[in-house]
Amino acid sequence: MNSYLIDPFEFCRNGGSLKGNASLSELNRLSAVCADQAGELKWEVTGTVNKRNQPELSLEVSGTVNLMCQRCLSPLVFDVDSETTVLVAKTEEQADEMEETLGNEDSVEVIVADGKINVLDLIEDEALLSLPLSSKHEVCPDSSMGELKNNIQSPFSVLGKLKKKE
Ligand SMILES: [Zn+2]
Repeated sequence: MNSYLIDPFEFCRNGGSLKGNASLSELNRLSAVCADQAGELKWEVTGTVNKRNQPELSLEVSGTVNLMCQRCLSPLVFDVDSETTVLVAKTEEQADEMEETLGNEDSVEVIVADGKINVLDLIEDEALLSLPLSSKHEVCPDSSMGELKNNIQSPFSVLGKLKKKE
């Protein structure tokens, strides 16, 4: 596995940029929620210091992964295409302050970094966040099969029922 360790503060100060491709087999947390390990993500990270003098990373992730359709339980190709801005804080307190200055900029995240961080971790987080909570084909390839499997309770629907009883 390639490692892309950076000091985020230095990286932002120097206006650094990195890009690469990560295969799904390198991203364990992501592949754990996918139907298989096929697929690859193209990613790019650039660093800058923003107007508020805060270290800021811009992330771009794109590619395709195979998810499992929740209706027919067969694979479903999902396009990952996500961009986000991440502010880097040195401490939790600083992160809180940064979050306050953000107001309603929803697309900005704040992370706390104590030393070096692995860029691939950020990419993987971003890809995970972009996945739908419940993935379904618009039209399942074999709808008779879909109806059959619909009668089988998914672990999530069982969880829902347990919750309602409380
Ligand atoms: Zn389906």
